Amino acid sequence: MKLRFAPSPTGYLHVGNARVALANWLVARKSGGTFVLRFDDTDTERSKPEYATAIEEDLRWLGLDWDESFAQTERLEAYEAAAARLKADGRLYPCLESEEELRFKREQRQRQGRPPVYDRAALQMTAEQLERAIANGKKPYWRFKLSPRTVEWQDHVLGHRAVKLPPISDPVLIRADGSFLYTFTSVVDDLDTAITGVIRGEDHVTNTGVQIDIMEALGMRPGRIDFAHLPLLTDADGSQLSKRIGSMGLRQLRRDGIEPAALAGYLAALGSSQDPVAGMPAQLVAGFALDKLSKSSARFDPTQLLALNRRYLHGLSFEQVKAQLPEGADEAFWLAVRGNLDLMSEARDWHDIATGAPEIPPQPDQAEFLRAALAALPPAPWDETTWSAWTRALGAASGRKGKALFLPLRLALTGEEHGPELKLFLPLIGRERAEQRLVQAAG
Ligand code: GLU
Repeated sequence: MKLRFAPSPTGYLHVGNARVALANWLVARKSGGTFVLRFDDTDTERSKPEYATAIEEDLRWLGLDWDESFAQTERLEAYEAAAARLKADGRLYPCLESEEELRFKREQRQRQGRPPVYDRAALQMTAEQLERAIANGKKPYWRFKLSPRTVEWQDHVLGHRAVKLPPISDPVLIRADGSFLYTFTSVVDDLDTAITGVIRGEDHVTNTGVQIDIMEALGMRPGRIDFAHLPLLTDADGSQLSKRIGSMGLRQLRRDGIEPAALAGYLAALGSSQDPVAGMPAQLVAGFALDKLSKSSARFDPTQLLALNRRYLHGLSFEQVKAQLPEGADEAFWLAVRGNLDLMSEARDWHDIATGAPEIPPQPDQAEFLRAALAALPPAPWDETTWSAWTRALGAASGRKGKALFLPLRLALTGEEHGPELKLFLPLIGRERAEQRLVQAAG
């Protein structure tokens, strides 16, 4: 098997296309096949090398690698050669109509209640007419003559699919300036690089009908390439995925502290009935199969992703995370805070709270209690038993319990109302800082 992921380097990778990349990668790896990264960069105005580099970086972050990679702008000769064949066969024909003319024709057809399909008037043009126009400085663009048929395939996600070609206008494959369009370059690449399967978004279904027709015009045996279309993502409430979420960039998620294993696990389970399990792509290979995916759209819910991220963080060992922790953070720190993190980035905040100088709000109404707490602070060294010994004694002396006992202490020690278990966190603060903070809070 040979699959490819073909992003256009016109922007950063977002969750929608990361899911397509992951699905192709998982299928390729599961079959022991090849995974190709192809940059669809024929739109030279919008494509930028920085984006290609960023896409590679983001894919690696997500845990994906590739066996081959190339950019379409490296293959212009191959497209020229394929175009020459289609021209010789009469399947690619020159057109001269301007945008305005085409719009006028479309509107006319619509007024007559006919579908606004291109009428192929250019096919009536004689060689002399064309030559004269070219001599007058006009440049033709080229359309592919679609077959009068319905293209059918067995989609690996959507099941049997059919696209009727007659109501579709012959697609332009080459612009007047000689540049090639994606519809064509993608077909030539898929054939030349011997791709065996194409997995992409459902928005490409009509495209697939058209592209299969072009592939067969270029000599492909029917059915040689398998197609699978992933149903589109929707918002948590089932409406069309909002721009904000749909364009949620992997860079942003990474900056926010989402772990690649959480994102990969979430994306791999999207649209299936399986509960997402966090894991790097290599760990997800065995559990992934296109036929587990539903034909209907999948909900992308950032709160579920966050919940998965949280569960994942809570289960990580110090060894697994130490490279990501702030300097000086040791295993005791990690075990104290991991159960309290939504995002890895919050570990830094807790580290600052433990060892830095957090803002401690004064609690004038608790002053007496806090002074008593200060006086009762156990001697160093501190360990996991210190907190309970201290608070048990304080409870007995003051008659306080529960929130009345614990909340003023937590606030005084951390400046926060919620946080890690103090049994583990107090030794990280240490006696000296605890003393200062209690004094500060007592005012
Ligand atoms: N560059 C195309 C896109 O990003 C690729 C689609 C395909 O997989 O053929 O939509």
